[in-house]
Amino acid sequence: MNNLLNKTGYVAGSPVHSDNILEVKNPFNNAVVGRVAMANKIHAQQAVEAAINGGEKLSRYERYNILEKTRLLLIERKEEFAKMISAESGLAIREAVYEIGRAHDVLMFAAIEALKDDGQIFSCDISPNGKARKIFTMREPLSLAVCITPFNHPLNQVVHKIIPALAAGTPVILKPSEKTPLTAIKFVELLYEAGLPNYFLSVLLGPTQEVAEYLIKEPRVDIVSFTGSVAVGKRIAALAGYKKTVLELGGNDPIIIMEDADLDLAVYLAAEGAYRNSGQRCTAVKRILVHEKIADAFTGEFVTKSKEYISGDPADPKTIVGTVIDEASAIYLEEVLVKAVEQGARILLGGKRSGALIEPTVITDVPRNADMVVHESFGPLAPILTFRNIDDAIALSNSTAYGLSSGVVTKNMEYAIRFIKELKVGTVNINEVPGYRLESSPFGGIKDSGLGVKEGVIEAMKYYTYVKTFSLPW
Ligand code: NAP
Repeated sequence: MNNLLNKTGYVAGSPVHSDNILEVKNPFNNAVVGRVAMANKIHAQQAVEAAINGGEKLSRYERYNILEKTRLLLIERKEEFAKMISAESGLAIREAVYEIGRAHDVLMFAAIEALKDDGQIFSCDISPNGKARKIFTMREPLSLAVCITPFNHPLNQVVHKIIPALAAGTPVILKPSEKTPLTAIKFVELLYEAGLPNYFLSVLLGPTQEVAEYLIKEPRVDIVSFTGSVAVGKRIAALAGYKKTVLELGGNDPIIIMEDADLDLAVYLAAEGAYRNSGQRCTAVKRILVHEKIADAFTGEFVTKSKEYISGDPADPKTIVGTVIDEASAIYLEEVLVKAVEQGARILLGGKRSGALIEPTVITDVPRNADMVVHESFGPLAPILTFRNIDDAIALSNSTAYGLSSGVVTKNMEYAIRFIKELKVGTVNINEVPGYRLESSPFGGIKDSGLGVKEGVIEAMKYYTYVKTFSLPW
């Protein structure tokens, strides 16, 4: 086996040695693409000690410099990274390239933010009770962050979690997904190469109780930042106890298409939202809600558009939709399709599965209580539901336990304003997909999708720090 395929976790820069080996397989053809040495509780304890005992703090300029060097190295190794993302996740190679562009932007924005002063000044002589003093604020790094990431963007999830922490000067222990560990470890190696002092970063994979859960409960960990499913997020909330938690959880995002919508735009946004990244984005379009007056016209054009989303070998540059993460997930998607059909839904396109590959699937007449629209379906399924008017659209959109994001297609400003005010979600994008964002803008959900703590480089740098105030006679 060559070096590319052999990876280990790192305890503050030192490779993890262990006989417990995780095999990582390509979801498309089941070929082994890598093996990772798994850590145990002792490694996790050592990683905590290394971070807490630490070393010299980094100046803003030093942090900027490391992030910039990492960004340049990532551009240089773009192809290697893209191949690895695609091989271990089954995502189409073009999605892997897109993801690297997003990770690049996170590094760029975080480097810029690292240079900015983050303090405020309050003059105290501004009320009858005031006096000649000033209060200043400054942000101090936390002692240690634990970051736990999902599989769906093997690079960008990791980058979004750890880079704002490092930009703020907070050391990190990363626990990436067992399904896509190779890209995560490769990115950690890039940070070391760019000059990040070792104590700032460890990356560990291992048995959940010994590694992830031990770290979540460890009192010296100041913050647990998690992205993943609702069930695991709620377990982490219960385990973490008296510490900060950031929980970015599942989604069930709608695209709402009003009767006045530009139909071409609506069709394009619905298809991009439902199929990109094999439908495995927390903000993927999981429900297409269409005004009943235009449902037939929309559905016809949407089926035609969906035929452009060719699924197949993720390594083939012509493939637009790769596999989902594994065969078990594809079987689950197949099962929710079958159940919906039993409840009266009709498959208009796709629906076939081969291993972990499931075709982009258009399904109509989907009942409002079907599993595939009540729960999160993490794959390229495009269920179409109709509504009568804006009140019905808002009620239907708000009817699930989730509240991550949403997209609305309309030319009517009154409609747009009502949706912005009344949808119970973290984001409303008018004439855009639910997933639209800048890597630095605030992002995050409410209800079962999260606690309303926002991510994005700028907000994340805030939660990875404490605000200290001091005052002086002035
Ligand atoms: P997952 O099963 O919840 O796993 C996420 C991470 O949690 C993995 O690293 C996993 O490790 C770890 N984990 C599992 N059990 C744990 C425990 N008891 N304690 C601590 N960590 C534990 O999620 P996934 O299937 O990888 O990702 C898909 C989900 O993520 C979807 O629901 C999607 O909507 C959501 N997501 C949300 C956002 C957002 O920003 N809101 C973004 C992307 C994805 P192992 O790999 O070792 O099991």
